[in-house]
Amino acid sequence: MIADHGGEIICGRAVEKVLVEDDRAVGVVLSGGEQVSSDYVVAACDAMQLYSQMLPPGAVPDYVLENLKELEPWPSYFLISLGVDDSVTQLGSWHHHITYCPALMDALDSEDPTHWLINVVDNSFADSLHAPKGYRSIAIGAPVSFEYRQRWQPISEMRGPEYTRLKEEVAAGVLASAERILPGLRDRIKAADIATPITYRRYTSNWKGARRGWVPTVESMSRIRRESTALPGLFQCGHWHVASGSISGAMQSGKNAALLILRESG
Ligand SMILES: Cc1cc2nc3c(=O)[nH]c(=O)nc-3n(C[C@H](O)[C@H](O)[C@H](O)COP(=O)(O)OP(=O)(O)OC[C@H]3O[C@@H](n4cnc5c(N)ncnc54)[C@H](O)[C@@H]3O)c2cc1C
Repeated sequence: MIADHGGEIICGRAVEKVLVEDDRAVGVVLSGGEQVSSDYVVAACDAMQLYSQMLPPGAVPDYVLENLKELEPWPSYFLISLGVDDSVTQLGSWHHHITYCPALMDALDSEDPTHWLINVVDNSFADSLHAPKGYRSIAIGAPVSFEYRQRWQPISEMRGPEYTRLKEEVAAGVLASAERILPGLRDRIKAADIATPITYRRYTSNWKGARRGWVPTVESMSRIRRESTALPGLFQCGHWHVASGSISGAMQSGKNAALLILRESG
């Protein structure tokens, strides 16, 4: 549809700056330095990145970034994606979605990952094409913050042996926890892939690897700015601009940004 209307989709290039002229957003600068001019800019990326790195000083009032700094991002996620033998469905507590919380009060960021709240989700239940015949695709995930044990963050840039060790140590704890409710699960694993808060930050650039924008509190709801911004020509959308994030919220906010532009451009 974008191409039908004369647009071009450029993949694999980061937006580094928003171009501002005469107090109006007039385009973007891509990695590599290429400039793209436009009537409007819609930022669908991380809000902290937009306000702390992409805009020139003074383009929006300082309080916009100061307000964001007061808000708490949702914790990130630790996710083990598994290909498992189909016989996993015979295990005692099997269900297409299990939430297990062995230590409710101190689950998040507990030193010991076997205390974490975990979600065990059978992706093959909803869609059998998730895995070849005879196997299932399941995901075991746990909320965890970017600051967990103060360790993701300092080692994140190099992702070397120390990061791999931490990732495997945490994965072993999460799997041990899952094994309590599904004894025999580990013996049925055929393939595994692990994503950490660093993975989420790396692929989405979301601040602190947050999985769905800001934590919704009375305070944050009043500070979250919706799709229009203080800079003419600049709009924003995505889970940072709706209460409680989520896929549907991000989609609705993209639609709102488009409607605002249509209204403004007549
Ligand atoms: C493990 C996990 C499970 C989840 N489960 C659910 C669920 O069940 N239901 C639900 O509703 N939500 C869920 N969420 C949350 C949901 O995925 C997000 O809220 C939603 O995807 C946010 O969409 P978005 O478009 O705002 O941001 P994103 O999906 O983060 O997309 C932003 C895009 O911008 C790109 N980008 C960033 N910076 C730049 C730049 N400088 N230049 C160019 N491109 C850039 C990124 O690469 C990315 O593609 C889950 C999240 C996680 C991590």
